[in-house]
Amino acid sequence: MKNRTPEEGRTALTDDAERNRLLAEMAEQSTDMISRHTPEDWRFIYASPAVTHLLGYSVEEIVGISAYDLYHPDDVEDFRLRAPTVNYDRGLYTHTYRFRCKDGHYTWLESTSRTIRDPETNEIREILVVSRDASHRVKADKASRRLARVLESTQDLVIFANLDFTVSHLNETARNALELEHTDYSAFPLSCFVTEKGLTTLMEEGFPTAKKTGNWRGELTMQSLKSARIPVMLELLAHRSLHGDIEYFSLVAHDLTEKKAAEEQLKQYQADINHASRLVTMGELASSLAHELNQPLSAMVNYLRGIERRFADKPILSWSDVELPITRSIKTALRAGEIIHRMMDFTRKQEPVVTRLSLPELIGEMIDFCENMAERHNVRIVFEQPSELPLVKGDKIQLEQVLLNLIVNAIEASASTDDEEATTTVTISVKPHENAQLRVEVDDQGRGVSESDMARLFDRFFSTKEAGLGMGLAISRSLVENLEGELWVENIPAGGARFSFTLNIAD
Ligand code: ADP
Repeated sequence: MKNRTPEEGRTALTDDAERNRLLAEMAEQSTDMISRHTPEDWRFIYASPAVTHLLGYSVEEIVGISAYDLYHPDDVEDFRLRAPTVNYDRGLYTHTYRFRCKDGHYTWLESTSRTIRDPETNEIREILVVSRDASHRVKADKASRRLARVLESTQDLVIFANLDFTVSHLNETARNALELEHTDYSAFPLSCFVTEKGLTTLMEEGFPTAKKTGNWRGELTMQSLKSARIPVMLELLAHRSLHGDIEYFSLVAHDLTEKKAAEEQLKQYQADINHASRLVTMGELASSLAHELNQPLSAMVNYLRGIERRFADKPILSWSDVELPITRSIKTALRAGEIIHRMMDFTRKQEPVVTRLSLPELIGEMIDFCENMAERHNVRIVFEQPSELPLVKGDKIQLEQVLLNLIVNAIEASASTDDEEATTTVTISVKPHENAQLRVEVDDQGRGVSESDMARLFDRFFSTKEAGLGMGLAISRSLVENLEGELWVENIPAGGARFSFTLNIAD
């Protein structure tokens, strides 16, 4: 090290004093904290007044404290490793770290450090540091990193699109689903990833709505580069700058493939069970149907025998001799045909069609359908209805199914009373219900429902009957609920059970 002459020493001192004065003046005004430190242990030689705002210390308090004592314990090692870079390299260094305030809490500082060297000896004299509060930035960085991680790892497809509808970013789920793993997708138009119909929906409805209100939500079908179709629920957001101009769009698409498949499966399952249950109900009704068909068939045999007899008596017959038995046979044959049709209708598998239906008409038909069965069980079916009733919303075959289940159950329950010979009554009534609904009640005079069965009555496969399938009530309830109605049971105080269900009145 070169020794200074006294003259040189004095000049250095004046330079130092001048620099310090300038620095102090600048520092006084600055909202950033300017500080000077000893090179060995970074002790504060000086700190500008901003130290009070940033760290809570007064200028006098902080002087003499080593910065190492205020670093967060987790950052100290990092500092020790980096110190040589500041000391021996280019001497300029920016770092973001935690620093302890006077009240003990840590704040984030962003500091730029610079070594001040003796121009002659090149020895480090001190370190000059400019620090500013970085807690907001660190918090914002953390939040956006967290957000980015969520976006990247969510199971939804996330796509960012420019104003010209080209893609700027896709998250991993989107890249996988759209089969883009090794493709450079930047500037791909969105139209590559939605079906033609989906694109029309987006262009005519999605983007205009998002531009107007900020967001749009709707179902559409996306497609991968290899044309795999993905049904999605899409949330489209328009992102604006501080000035209010739209800068870009984000599309968050929730894959509905599994949901759709499950819905389809459930529908299929429901349809199969429904069909099976109708066949079972049909089985229960088979004997009465046989009886129903037997009657017109034997009537026809009688008419034809009558014609045969007339021929035997008088080989040449005029039309008037046979007109009556022939027209009666035709009528009876048609009636038998109707019975068979009704049976086929009832057992046919078909998609539900919701229409406006007259409940009294439907109930009347179902009572006719069960008349023979009721007669055999000594049950009388009575239908009570107010004169004026609005139409309801429902699928005809489904409602027939519900009514039939309840009426057949009521007949069977009535028939199982102790006195099998006594005639009992099943009463069906339709009443106005709250919330623009009608309520159908099917009352019987059977034993009612025991407390222990009450909770399980609507469970699938719950049956107390020897040959019962236990699907009737479960299916009836789900059919009624599908139509936004309810189906429930209660015991009638005078004896017997009352099954009630509600249906929406048609507009
Ligand atoms: P299943 O008629 O094949 O048994 P359901 O689901 O129609 O199937 O009925 C389930 C059970 O509910 C019946 O086995 C019976 O125990 C009870 N149940 C149904 N209707 C009545 C009723 N009107 N009175 C008393 N119990 C009934």
